[in-house]
Amino acid sequence: MAETTKEQVRQRAAGRCEYCRLPEAHVLTPFRIEHVVAKQHRGKAALGNLAYACLRCNLHKGPNLAGIDPLTKKRLFWGLCG
Ligand SMILES: [Zn+2]
Repeated sequence: MAETTKEQVRQRAAGRCEYCRLPEAHVLTPFRIEHVVAKQHRGKAALGNLAYACLRCNLHKGPNLAGIDPLTKKRLFWGLCG
């Protein structure tokens, strides 16, 4: 992934996780740039498919495209639920 693309994602996120909105300044572990649709699912390294993510969100999401909300039992799609 090009450094310019990474920098564009960082600037768009303005120092916050793009999933949970946690400010990067509040944690010790550096945020990561991850694929919303994982590479294994043919996700591209394009701005619209990249997210600046805290470690917790990155590990929780993994390569999945969707998950089940434990409270509502509804299917949630990453990148579409804010
Ligand atoms: Zn997060």
